[in-house]
Amino acid sequence: MINFDYIRAGSVAEAVRRIAADPTAKIIAGGTNLVDLMKQDVERPSRLVDISRLPLNTVEETAAGGVLIGALVLNSDLAYHPLIEKNFPLLSSALLAGASPQLRNMASVGGNLLQRTRCYYFYDTATPCNKRAPGSGCPAIDGLNRIHAILGASESCVATHPSDMCVALAALEALVHVTGPAGERAIPFADFHRLPGDAPERDTNLRADEIVTAIELPPEGFAANYTYLKIRDRLSYAFALVSVAVGLSLDGDIIKGARLALGGVAHKPWRDTAAEAVLRGRTPSRAVFEEAADLVLRGARGLAHNSFKIDLARRAIVRALTQAANGEPQSQSCKRIN
Ligand code: SF4
Repeated sequence: MINFDYIRAGSVAEAVRRIAADPTAKIIAGGTNLVDLMKQDVERPSRLVDISRLPLNTVEETAAGGVLIGALVLNSDLAYHPLIEKNFPLLSSALLAGASPQLRNMASVGGNLLQRTRCYYFYDTATPCNKRAPGSGCPAIDGLNRIHAILGASESCVATHPSDMCVALAALEALVHVTGPAGERAIPFADFHRLPGDAPERDTNLRADEIVTAIELPPEGFAANYTYLKIRDRLSYAFALVSVAVGLSLDGDIIKGARLALGGVAHKPWRDTAAEAVLRGRTPSRAVFEEAADLVLRGARGLAHNSFKIDLARRAIVRALTQAANGEPQSQSCKRIN
């Protein structure tokens, strides 16, 4: 690890001022990903700007009936917050599917958004990696790629985004509130994370001098018909091979509204509005769910070791839609899949 300066910001304005003045400075809150990256020499910030004491740790109802979640709310506090458990159980469930209790007790919501891929080569500084060292190459494409992307990848990078929480936020159409030198702005969740294209070093559309201050959820939480289904190599403390977040609103036996997002398959949470449109106005059935799954996966491409994810994703989408339609969400304590 290199030597670095450390300062604690006294306000959002000071934090913005500090990172705007020094492009090599990094914001730190829980540090559950950044400290690992620094130990591995992947991140080499000249200065850490600690924002963990800023007053961004509240969960409040909005006038519209949604909720505003401060960027420093801890993952565990958010998962068990009464408002979230009651109105946005999809988000609670996705949070509890992620990491371990110890990590959830440290990790902030804003940090969860900004965590970096777990591609093995990204962490191994002895290998090239376009995300870590732009232009150096992507050894994952012809190397070990079992955990890599089947959707939205590029010739520059086939990494996946590791978050569970973000898959639920994509399905719930969250807004990300950020502050920079030019003031505040809100980024629709679908536009926050990026596909790799020819610039995989950029994970998000957050500017280098902006910080995340809050996440806003609109009122529709799909609390009656939802699920977060995560398929992984072991039952806890593992990243998703494939995960599926579903929210349905039903009118009798007709699907009025549908949200469907996947994790573990792309450089960003993968939401497919065309598949959602196919579900609307239909009666839940295996055939309808398979039609939606085929639509989501129409552009899927496997590499040498990850083609299994295409069929796995298809079956997980059908299973998740069935769970949500039946009002039987996946339990995150008893992980048996029904
Ligand atoms: Fe780097 Fe992306 Fe290739 Fe992994 S998949 S080695 S992160 S460029």
